[in-house]
Amino acid sequence: MGHVLDDDKPCHECGVVGVYLAEAAVGEPAEAARTAFYGLFALQHRGQESAGIAAVDENGEALVHKAMGLVSEVFSPAVIEGLPGRIAVGHVRYSTTGGSRLLNAQPLVFSYLRGMVALAHNGNLVNYLELRDRLATLGSVFQTSTDTEVIGNLLARYSQDRLEDALIKTMIDVKGGYALVLAARDTLVGVRDPLGIRPLCLGKLEGGYVLASESCALDTIGAEFLRDVAPGEIVVIDSRGVTSLCALQSRQRAHCVFEYIYFARPDSTLDGINVNRARRAMGAQLARETRLQADIVVPVPDSGTSAALGYAAESGIPFEEGLMKNRYVGRTFIQPTQKMRDLGVRLKLNPVAEVVAGRRIILVDDSIVRGTTSRQIVSMLRTAGAREVHLVVASPPTCHSCYYGIDTHLPELIAARLDVEGIRAFIGADSLHYLSVEGMFSALDRGGEGFCVACFDGRYPVPVEGVREGGCG
Ligand code: SF4
Repeated sequence: MGHVLDDDKPCHECGVVGVYLAEAAVGEPAEAARTAFYGLFALQHRGQESAGIAAVDENGEALVHKAMGLVSEVFSPAVIEGLPGRIAVGHVRYSTTGGSRLLNAQPLVFSYLRGMVALAHNGNLVNYLELRDRLATLGSVFQTSTDTEVIGNLLARYSQDRLEDALIKTMIDVKGGYALVLAARDTLVGVRDPLGIRPLCLGKLEGGYVLASESCALDTIGAEFLRDVAPGEIVVIDSRGVTSLCALQSRQRAHCVFEYIYFARPDSTLDGINVNRARRAMGAQLARETRLQADIVVPVPDSGTSAALGYAAESGIPFEEGLMKNRYVGRTFIQPTQKMRDLGVRLKLNPVAEVVAGRRIILVDDSIVRGTTSRQIVSMLRTAGAREVHLVVASPPTCHSCYYGIDTHLPELIAARLDVEGIRAFIGADSLHYLSVEGMFSALDRGGEGFCVACFDGRYPVPVEGVREGGCG
């Protein structure tokens, strides 16, 4: 079962962070773990089911703490104190289906010929099961159902090589979208898939370096943004500084467009594009494409807010906060009954009757997956007195599964089953409008080059024919 309050959004798998501190910069034993904690705190939106940090001490021993829950629930000051070392990696995860969820939490720590390695991974390998079968035939045993463990096993297979060389061989074997951070004795390593599907950036700390899924994590811990890790690059950070290895070269780029639409935080800049700016441009483009007559523009907070601001600015229709969000509903501890699940959106959003009553509303959301939440919101707005509700969506219809680390599956995608009129009827809006694919590209200002848009057009940048579902990072 998905997260009750995010049931109508694609679920991001993970966020990763890595911290390297030079000896002289270490103020206290657990400083790297503490820095990783704040980095994860900034990446909480990328996964709310489990969190973990592993730190490697001067003897090469890796200690890990991971548990189900939000970052602030999983880590107390005492827990952080118990993770000494100059190098740390951290992970937040949106759990997917089945199995023991805690067992699948990351980072994963494993021992191989060259010592202990802690590994955290964001993404999904499309050849995970094939690799797992191959490794199992060769005698590997698996404790989890994650593809992260497959990566660890491949590294162990190549342990006669230096870690960097073992990683290059591993990258040749694995196919899909991934961003990895690894902590080994004296070394922090970052790896990004050859097409740059999943994001990873590099920052400079006083006396150290940091790797993170998004630049907002660098801002939070006071690191200076240096650059994005290049697609196919391995970044090795040790006492010599930063060494870059161009492990797998590809002229093609396929940055996940959904990062800009929904996943990433608006204050992040990924691969040269600021997320807030992209969302506002998508909203403005949507206003040019729809030209609706209405009284107010209302966002579905928070993910629709930037696009709604762009829509309002372009159309000249006033922006109003017509829905209030309970910002403290992060995760429900109590398994909801079906009745509560039906009411689920009410825990999170409530209409402001004074704002919406008697008005013609343009309701702006970033995307629609199942349509169930949109339907509830439209119904709530009508009950609160809205005269008309026109739903505008700042992305094209999502009608294909993602195989690169995002938890969307064909059967749950309403746009895979219904046309726009069918979706409108299901949601109960007066009209429904999606951003065009061309409009999305023009808002991103890159002429359509360099993005994965497979969940909209079904053209997968890494072949997925015959992919068996399973194994998420
Ligand atoms: Fe992102 Fe969609 Fe591509 Fe998945 S299929 S990586 S969600 S753009």
